[in-house]
Amino acid sequence: MSAGAASLLDSSIAELAGRLARNEVSSREITEAALSRAAADRLGAFLRVTPEAAHRAARASDERRARGAALSPLDGVPLGLKDIFLTEGVETTAGSRILQGFVPPCDATVVERLRACGAVFLGKLNMDEFAMGSSNENSAYGPCRNPWDPTRTPGGSSGGSAAAVAARQVFGALGTDTGGSIRQPASFCGVVGVKPTYGRVSRYGVIAFASSLDQVGPFARTVEDLALVSAALFGHDPLDSTSATEPVPDLARALEGSAKGLRVGVPWAFLLQGVEDETMARFRESLAALESAGASVSEVSLPHLPHAIAAYYLVATAEASSNLARYDGVRYGRRAPAARELRRLYGDSRDAGLGAEVKRRIILGTFALSSGYYDAYYLRAQKVRTLIRRDFERAFAACDVVATPTTPTPAFRLGEKTGDPLQMYLADIFTVPANLAGLPGLSLPCGLVRGLPVGLQLLARSFEEETLLRAGAAFQKATRHHELAPPV
Ligand code: GLN
Repeated sequence: MSAGAASLLDSSIAELAGRLARNEVSSREITEAALSRAAADRLGAFLRVTPEAAHRAARASDERRARGAALSPLDGVPLGLKDIFLTEGVETTAGSRILQGFVPPCDATVVERLRACGAVFLGKLNMDEFAMGSSNENSAYGPCRNPWDPTRTPGGSSGGSAAAVAARQVFGALGTDTGGSIRQPASFCGVVGVKPTYGRVSRYGVIAFASSLDQVGPFARTVEDLALVSAALFGHDPLDSTSATEPVPDLARALEGSAKGLRVGVPWAFLLQGVEDETMARFRESLAALESAGASVSEVSLPHLPHAIAAYYLVATAEASSNLARYDGVRYGRRAPAARELRRLYGDSRDAGLGAEVKRRIILGTFALSSGYYDAYYLRAQKVRTLIRRDFERAFAACDVVATPTTPTPAFRLGEKTGDPLQMYLADIFTVPANLAGLPGLSLPCGLVRGLPVGLQLLARSFEEETLLRAGAAFQKATRHHELAPPV
């Protein structure tokens, strides 16, 4: 790779788009450089690199540009996809053995939309099996490592997406967030990530985990880049019945705004329960930075948040048990070697194809939905969900964004929490409420704790991603934490 192209890997999508437009670099050159970075990857961010398809897409992009027919600022830009998105002709496993060898016949809507913008996909990124996890250690293909410290987790479940963006293997990536799987790994890897409002982005062709919580969103290195990718993703899709018809605002314009007059609400009572000291120090500094950029900070009360984790793990497991029933080795999924009777065939296929965490969740979810327990667990959790939504509605009468640390600590060590699922579940304490309430959330790098990045989380009213991007852009102007890169 040329030294010029290699150093370009550090630039943002917006900068790269400028260079491509001015013909200072070709998509072929930058794709080549990104592919060699990805091929040298020792983090395990990629499950599959697809160099031929990437070369083809880059060549097509260069030809379009030569004709003056570039499709968008993303035309020719190397991106990565979490392995949960269907990609036509490219194996898609959702990090599970049971889908090994599955080659989808079509693209997910979001993949199609990015292709239509000219994006170049380098391959499929590592993830926790069926997006269940907070550390990427539930991947059937081995964990991904954190580029800031390879003995630590990149977070999960979209760990490969966050790590690949942080390690400058791709300029941006798609992930999904059911309980924090975009925001938490973004925080652990020092990149930005947004979980849009439920319904904002199509879930068509996204392998389902918990359908009332799942949402697709981008990772990038700057808020401006998030806006560029979001603009391609957002908007109604007739193929997804839960997709919203809400008009998509001009996201680029949101970036021009400032934090002047922004009202930031902080649920102190909830936070004081368990944020590690230095992470709390970075959070307080972030609030001060927002204040000096013109925002006002006050306390808000979200009294039902302490029940969010319990409600989330009932709703998510219940929906997962229903969604995963299709992997029976007959209609979907790898079949275990011939058993003599049908029940045995199902049992053997699922036993061999699914990992321990997925099995645990299917069992928990089936129990929560079973007759006699439904009212006590699933229905109850749905009621708590309503209370949490109302908490936010009340809070948003007094503020425009709610701020918390994204996670209570920086990235933990691989293996540190694998023996204790409850401890693992608590890593999501600040992220799950947004999924339960369907709200948009953004995680921004907000400094280092013992050399590891931590994130500031901002949540907004439904369909107000614009507010998040405006606040995020103002924060980046004021702090520049997002410019920190992991040691090579
Ligand atoms: N870590 C959470 C879980 O294990 C959230 C995962 C996600 O957002 N996909 O369910």
